[in-house]
Amino acid sequence: MHIRYGSQSDQGRIRTSNEDSFVVNGRNKLFLVADGMGGHAAGEVASHIASSTLQELLSTAGSQGDSAVALRFAAQAANARIYEAQRQNPEYQGMGSTLTALMVRGGKYYIAHVGDSRAYLLRDGTLDQLTSDHSVVWHLFENGVLRKEDLSKHPQKNLIIRSIGPHPQVDIDIETGETHERDVFLLCSDGLTDVLTDQAIHRILSDSSKAPQELAEALVSAANDGGGPDNVTVVVVRLEPGTSE
Ligand code: CA
Repeated sequence: MHIRYGSQSDQGRIRTSNEDSFVVNGRNKLFLVADGMGGHAAGEVASHIASSTLQELLSTAGSQGDSAVALRFAAQAANARIYEAQRQNPEYQGMGSTLTALMVRGGKYYIAHVGDSRAYLLRDGTLDQLTSDHSVVWHLFENGVLRKEDLSKHPQKNLIIRSIGPHPQVDIDIETGETHERDVFLLCSDGLTDVLTDQAIHRILSDSSKAPQELAEALVSAANDGGGPDNVTVVVVRLEPGTSE
């Protein structure tokens, strides 16, 4: 299979800075979004530490070795670095980041996930969210208290219960599965999903005449057209028939 991908990150219509960060590394088949939080530009610092740590630690990992173990190790290292940075700098206190990272290796995908950014998979016309949001409202959704389409309207929608950095250790969700030809993976920060429903995302992502870069741009435009209340970052990865994986 051949991997095509695109990405777009925008501060949105309201925020004055962009605390999201992302990686698209086609050579190592590593893709991620990280959404930072914390005052005094600390969110920006946190999401960049998360991104650069995974880039650094996973760019040498070949197809040999256990990708899930490597991903978990790199995410844990990112957590330790952010935790250490804020321990040494009072301005960074309380900073953290979401992390949703995708690696494609040997006919499988591997996702490491913490926080309320999301990974979706569009396969055979069906869009599935592969990750669970580590947020208060997601908990309410899973327990049948809220409908999914109402999560973004809830006053506590921004309350995250797990993120990278605030504590010395963090639980990291790992999702793996087989890859199929024409799979489309979407990684995104909550600036996209607070504005667009899954149905709206599905509609935009299903346009197979568009290149992944055009899809990423269309998704970010739609979020901004919907008010752009937050930073919005999107990575689109499509597996296409071809000789090289
Ligand atoms: Ca956000």
